[in-house]
Amino acid sequence: MTPLADILARRIAATGPITVADYMADCLMHPEHGYYTAREPFGTAGDFITAPEISQMFGEMIGLWLAQAWIDRGRPAPFTLAELGPGRGTLMADILRAAGTVPGFQAAARVHLVEASPRLREAQRAALGGTAVTWAEGVADLPAAPLFLVANEFFDALPIRQFQRDPAGWRERQVGLDGETLAFGLSAPAPLADLQGRLGDTTPGDIVETRPAASAIMQTIAARIAAHGGAALILDYGDWRSRGDTLQAVRGHAPEPPLAHPGAADLTAHVDFAALADAARGVTVGPMVPQGGFLERLGITARAQALARRLSGAALESHIAAHRRLTHPQEMGTLFKTLALTDRGASPLPGFDP
Ligand code: SAH
Repeated sequence: MTPLADILARRIAATGPITVADYMADCLMHPEHGYYTAREPFGTAGDFITAPEISQMFGEMIGLWLAQAWIDRGRPAPFTLAELGPGRGTLMADILRAAGTVPGFQAAARVHLVEASPRLREAQRAALGGTAVTWAEGVADLPAAPLFLVANEFFDALPIRQFQRDPAGWRERQVGLDGETLAFGLSAPAPLADLQGRLGDTTPGDIVETRPAASAIMQTIAARIAAHGGAALILDYGDWRSRGDTLQAVRGHAPEPPLAHPGAADLTAHVDFAALADAARGVTVGPMVPQGGFLERLGITARAQALARRLSGAALESHIAAHRRLTHPQEMGTLFKTLALTDRGASPLPGFDP
């Protein structure tokens, strides 16, 4: 039993079952025992590897995407260059290096990082060397200024609620106790106005997921972009609409049951891009495109070939494998999707043309 499992079991014994969202929030962000607050999740020695950690090419493509979007909107200065959930800071470091080749970009950029984990804020400070950075607790703290924002594998870590359809309405999936062990259960059924729209594509027994924090964040980002101009790029795993139970735990690069090691395993769920798009009002949204095609259209293959000329042996092989991992349909190329927002009437964003 992990220390957090013990804490949760005692709390549930005292005050009753908790929602999946409350369980997820404690597992990831508990001040002492949370996965992001207490552990080193990234890399081969950690539990999973994200795209920016696979190859510098990912951050380079995104840096140039952001710079192009900034140029196309008239090079506003100053502007907010924001990242949500920057992890080890690798993506922002690569963005600044690549976009630093674009005249005026770095001088106009004010870097803001939205990060809840104090431990990861320190890692980000180290990765970004001398760059001046402002950390924010949430998107509401971002300045009233043109906003160019990226979020990679951020939304999948935000807590989800799960509801199982029932002839009498919806039952919320909860974490309770079976003896002294954490176990899933269901609340009593109730009609839910928010899920009225899901009655058409579900039947009793089906599970749907909602992510209240994600919708609130998207509303705020869209409002900033509608008011001050800019663009936002969201990359994550998931699809257009959630269907079924997608909650998953990963520890040491292997999946495990989500209740097995609270606080010691990464916990994520698919991102419902339709819900993100619905929440982004007053801006131009979408289309959602697979990550592989998006990176190809931005020129990742040409960049991969240029880098390959300087490599040989094992370094060349791992470089080729990294390119494949980011773009191939059987790797991250189609499971991961990309969605962008921009101010209405602005020119189209690179990488989203059919
Ligand atoms: N984008 C990085 C890391 C992804 S992991 C990469 O691609 O490698 C998720 C990141 O989001 C971590 O930095 C985690 O601490 C942060 N995070 C998760 N929930 C958060 C929240 N509610 N508010 C702010 N940051 C959060």
